[in-house]
Amino acid sequence: MADRKPIISGNWKMHLNHFEALKLVQELSYLITEDDVDAVDISLHPPFTDIRTVQTVLEADKLPFHLGAQHCHFEEKGAFTGEVAPSMLAKLNVGYVIVGHSERREVFGESDEMINKKVLAILAAGMLPILCCGETLEEREAGEAESKIARQVTAGMASVNAEQAADMVIAYEPIWAIGTGRTASAEDAQAMCAAVRSTVAGLYGDEVAQSVRIQYGGSVKPVNAHELMTQPDIDGALVGGAALEADSFARIAQFRLSE
Ligand code: PEP
Repeated sequence: MADRKPIISGNWKMHLNHFEALKLVQELSYLITEDDVDAVDISLHPPFTDIRTVQTVLEADKLPFHLGAQHCHFEEKGAFTGEVAPSMLAKLNVGYVIVGHSERREVFGESDEMINKKVLAILAAGMLPILCCGETLEEREAGEAESKIARQVTAGMASVNAEQAADMVIAYEPIWAIGTGRTASAEDAQAMCAAVRSTVAGLYGDEVAQSVRIQYGGSVKPVNAHELMTQPDIDGALVGGAALEADSFARIAQFRLSE
């Protein structure tokens, strides 16, 4: 791996109320050590209703986890019932926002154009996007996986400048592996993350491509984390189900300790 600090992100999706969130963060704080966070960035992405609670405990107890969000709108304010503006998240010291998750694309109809507007708005608010991309099983079987992710990454990063791009996180998540218990082989995950990096190289050059962190997501568990995370182009994981339980998420974050 080049000089990139891995980032392990827990996407809690629509799970855990703010009491449960507090408990999970406290449990994580007992399991994850200073050495762990020296080696790996850890971001937690609770539902909106938990963010203020998680922020308060992180700051009061000086816990070394980054606060994340799962979603936001691209507009700063207005008549957008139910939506949350990037600046509202930044005000809560949110550092990372997931954008373009396949569930947002498929269930809520988010287009590449909307996702790009969100990427730009998140950056403008001083946060970092975790831009998701990934193919369906049909697209993989049709040999279209690489062209799909190249298209999503290119569209998602339109008008992002090189300096901003260098700090971004991109999550490669094969849709058929999300929440299914099926994981891409380490070899396939590496090949796709390398394809993401080469797309970034085509857009911004090698230096930016070597700086971007690329996560793998899709049924990452303690048992497969080490093999996936030690691939040369995989710089971390976006974790769903296994992030809801302190012991499994901590063991994923500590992947470097297992063989
Ligand atoms: C995800 O939420 O992005 C994800 C990869 O979920 P899971 O780890 O449950 O497959």
